[in-house]
Amino acid sequence: MQSYAMLIDGRSVQTSEQDGVINPAQGAAFATCPRATKAHVDEAVAAAARAYRTWRNDEAFRRQKLNECAGAIQGRVEEIARLLVQEQGKPLQKATEEVFGAMFWFSYFAGLEVKPEILQDDDQKRIQVVHKPLGVVAAITPWNFPVILLAFKFGPALLAGNTIVAKPSEYTPLSSLLVGQILKDVLPQGVVNFVAGPGSVGAELASHPDVRKVSFTGSVATGKKIAQVAAADLKRVTLELGGNDPAIVLEDVDPAQVVDGLFWSAFANSGQVCTAIKRLYVHEKVYAPIVDGLIERAKAVKVGDGFEADTQLGPINNKMQFDRVVSLVEDAKQNGGRIAAGGTPLSRPGYFLPPTIVTDVGPGVRLVDEEQFGTALPVIKYRNLDDALEEANKTHYGLGGSIWTSNLARGEELVQRLESGTGWVNHHMDILPNVPFGGCKWSGLGYENGRWGYEEFTELQVVNAKK
Ligand code: NAD
Repeated sequence: MQSYAMLIDGRSVQTSEQDGVINPAQGAAFATCPRATKAHVDEAVAAAARAYRTWRNDEAFRRQKLNECAGAIQGRVEEIARLLVQEQGKPLQKATEEVFGAMFWFSYFAGLEVKPEILQDDDQKRIQVVHKPLGVVAAITPWNFPVILLAFKFGPALLAGNTIVAKPSEYTPLSSLLVGQILKDVLPQGVVNFVAGPGSVGAELASHPDVRKVSFTGSVATGKKIAQVAAADLKRVTLELGGNDPAIVLEDVDPAQVVDGLFWSAFANSGQVCTAIKRLYVHEKVYAPIVDGLIERAKAVKVGDGFEADTQLGPINNKMQFDRVVSLVEDAKQNGGRIAAGGTPLSRPGYFLPPTIVTDVGPGVRLVDEEQFGTALPVIKYRNLDDALEEANKTHYGLGGSIWTSNLARGEELVQRLESGTGWVNHHMDILPNVPFGGCKWSGLGYENGRWGYEEFTELQVVNAKK
């Protein structure tokens, strides 16, 4: 079985202990992955700390290197995408788009303008605020978008002058390790390092005394553990965590105009998107046609292996998550929910649950209250908009939310009543390199993307000169 190497101090590193990596479309291991020891983590952090001494000095060189990273990824898109399909499950076209997205993020940060801010410049004094790097950064990522989420962190962290030790998810480590091997030929030794293994390797990395910042994307439970560990020596953290995004459809919509957008905002990447629509509130006047439209689409979608040309949705990424989504659907059924489409796993190897539309559920049912992160969507009928907004906000999550309406101005006003990091109107899940992205409440701390994402990887210094 093929294995991919970790990257430490510019060297490809293998380990005697290996973990199988499962192809979720088959439910069987197709490759193995190294498992880092504490010594590997220590070596990787030490290498990043050494590289930091020079990497931090020359911004023009860093920009040039970020552009070269984008070019190197572009040259290997197909190879990375194919590996991503094997370990993550998504359709090849979507995997290809994800890798192009990562390339685009590197290019964006290569060109992001960052200037010192001059607060005073007169006869007496010049006072400037400059951004300085933090040092060694840990980048810990989940399994739903392993490649682009690396780029969300690498672009701004490297531009700012930090060096990195990355720890990808144990479910999808190989595409990240391959990116590491590609970047090895572009970046100076030690600037980026990759270690692999389970959560315990992430914990080792996050608690390392020479790591000055942890940039984490993953679940709320792990995010809280990282915040605790970071508090002990005041490491900086950015936490991009889970969501249970509500979408509220107003009575004034034309169902035919919105149903496609609603369906794909819930089921893209088989629902495994932090900002997927996870609770759909629909006004009673348009409820029936919207539900009918969702059912029609759910039944028409081709679910299958990501390598089959007509596949639109792949499997759920791993057995644990698959069992969880199936059990949430079962629980909804037992609590009065009606399965309007889907609901039964495909009888074939792998973790396939076709798009499942559940009606007749409300608060108190786990599928509504918890983050499902898979192919099941509760559709909740409402009469009074204030009640729907209140229900939508009655959660610890606060990642995204949306209002769907034919009245744009009303949508823009109403969406501000949602307690969410992003409020979309008439779409959902639109994430861009130049627009800040983050969650409120338990959905996170801090932001990624744009100058806000860059600033998260910096510290301010005030330069105050008397003339
Ligand atoms: P997870 O928290 O289980 O794992 C994420 C990463 O953390 C993995 O690499 C894992 O090995 C590592 N890890 C586990 N325990 C650790 C510890 N104690 N210390 C340090 N690292 C540790 O999350 P997951 O199941 O891989 O991802 C799914 C979750 O991620 C969902 O909740 C989803 O909403 C969220 N997510 C959020 C965003 C966002 O930007 N807000 C984006 C994608 C996914």
